[in-house]
Amino acid sequence: MTTAATTSPLDVLRDVFGYEEFRGQQAAVVDHLVGGGDAVVLMPTGGGKSLCYQIPSLVRPGTGVVISPLIALMADQVAALDNLGVRAAYLNSTLDFEQAQDVERKLLEGELDLLYLAPERLVLPRTMALLERAEVALFAIDEAHCVSQWGHDFRSDYLGLGVLAQRFPTVPRIALTATATPATHAELTARLHLADAEHFVASFDRPNITYRIEPKNSARTQLLNFITTEHPGDSGIVYCLSRRGVDQLAEALVARGIPALPYHAGLPAGVRADHQARFLREDGLVMVATIAFGMGIDKPDVRFVAHLDLPRSVEGYYQETGRAGRDGLPADAWMVYGLGDVVSQRRLIESGEGDQVFKRRAMSHLDSMLALCETVDCRRVQLLRYFDEESGPCGNCDTCATPPATWDATVAVQKLLSAVIRLDRERGQRFGAGQIIDVLRGNDNERSRASAHQELSVWGIGDDLSEAEWKTVIRQVLARGLLESHGDYGVLVLGEDTGPVLRGESAVFLRVDPVRKPGSSARKNGSKLRGDPAESLDAADSALFESLRTWRAEQAKEQGVPAYVVFPDATLYGIVEARPSSIAELGGVSGVGLKKLERYGPGVLEIIAGRG
Ligand code: ADP
Ligand code: ZN
Repeated sequence: MTTAATTSPLDVLRDVFGYEEFRGQQAAVVDHLVGGGDAVVLMPTGGGKSLCYQIPSLVRPGTGVVISPLIALMADQVAALDNLGVRAAYLNSTLDFEQAQDVERKLLEGELDLLYLAPERLVLPRTMALLERAEVALFAIDEAHCVSQWGHDFRSDYLGLGVLAQRFPTVPRIALTATATPATHAELTARLHLADAEHFVASFDRPNITYRIEPKNSARTQLLNFITTEHPGDSGIVYCLSRRGVDQLAEALVARGIPALPYHAGLPAGVRADHQARFLREDGLVMVATIAFGMGIDKPDVRFVAHLDLPRSVEGYYQETGRAGRDGLPADAWMVYGLGDVVSQRRLIESGEGDQVFKRRAMSHLDSMLALCETVDCRRVQLLRYFDEESGPCGNCDTCATPPATWDATVAVQKLLSAVIRLDRERGQRFGAGQIIDVLRGNDNERSRASAHQELSVWGIGDDLSEAEWKTVIRQVLARGLLESHGDYGVLVLGEDTGPVLRGESAVFLRVDPVRKPGSSARKNGSKLRGDPAESLDAADSALFESLRTWRAEQAKEQGVPAYVVFPDATLYGIVEARPSSIAELGGVSGVGLKKLERYGPGVLEIIAGRG
């Protein structure tokens, strides 16, 4: 599209993107860049980072150059812009010589509004020379945390991007990321030479995500229940720790009629690319994956992210759950975890690579994650505090919906610690949770008899609690560091500060694990911030929504693009609500810009009129 020099950012937002207003700090970022300033933007996933550089690229003369590490996603990003009538292209290794030449020609002749490049391509002398001959509106460095060597996504090619400051001193630069820690923020500012940039740091809250963490009984059954009762037909991501776990679970879901695909680093690159493309393109697929999956996946309508294994850190958990609900509609972050997760995560750290300092850091990350799991306070308050943000109880998490009951477990914990001490002293041996529970409950079985545990003074002192109850006690005591688990067998040893509890000087209150009836959910009982549009549709509305979804799938298939490129769910709901009967009315729906109105308007109106 050709924009006259007088076009304002707000006009571009309305005409091209079909949105009425800027969100949060978007307007401020856009104005700053249009005025020629540099910017560092920290915004959560779904916060609307793309518009921060896309609109200035359209308003300023020349081409906006976007640097992104995600080659596999560039084609979709360009297709989405093309659907909006924006002239965009990418240069990467998937293009052949002639295609690349064509893009370069368009760039030099001023026929591109946006150009996507991978960092390794950008730093080539040839590319630098090309850009110096072109008119560059701005440089946008997406996923800017990749320049941080301490971060989890470090890419050495990103280090070369600092050179842009010297080579293009008059071109504004904007660095964007959803990784919020102060350390990453400082490091990327320094490495990208953005000392004079203005910083825009948004709240990291994701109010439309409902956080829920439940005790693990039978993970697979719990997941099946969750999907079939709360998210039938929805797109979602399920994270598992191991590749084998991923493969088995994907198969199990398919066997139960839930369309699912596996994704992990052990699959051939071609299969991975195919599964990723299908997840982006098809409605209602569940991706079962290790953490290898996800960065840059900007599918807006992921309705749930489930964790069947405990994530290593709160940062990882927040990034993974953040892939749900980018469109702002209600979404679930759901996790089950149990005693076994605590033991296996500690074992992984102990036996993993890295020196003592590294391992201590990993343990402290795990401890923060466990504190989040065991909290009796609002999950969101805990999460945001981790990112240095203070907030009040959210009303949209499981602990807000059903505040967990606590009980005075001081005596039980004393018994547990005593059993661990006795076994160690009198048997000279350390045991895992199973055998310790046997001793506490006085379980007369072969295992106990073989070790003559019956003779211990602590034999049977804990028969007032069930096996399951002892497991939750041990899990929580491990989470608080009163016990530690070690080695391959997860043997339990005393933690550091047990003195006060053993002497009765400090009380221990533990949470009572909620017993949830199958099919019931925190979400239905809990107050929600925003209504789920899918739940408030009447029969006629649902029918129209389904017709629009079918029409959208056909359009997407014809163009070979993901469905949301045609219209995201949020826009389809907007159309159902407005039921426009003219092109002008349809143009008033959020997400319907001029180009899409021209392209899809007649088709959509036919469907509303029942003739589609
Ligand atoms: P991020 O890159 O920060 O994760 P995106 O740029 O992908 O977020 O935006 C998330 C979603 O919000 C997209 O579907 C986008 O079209 C939508 N969006 C962004 N800005 C606005 C706005 N001002 N009004 C309405 N929707 C918006
Ligand atoms: Zn809450």
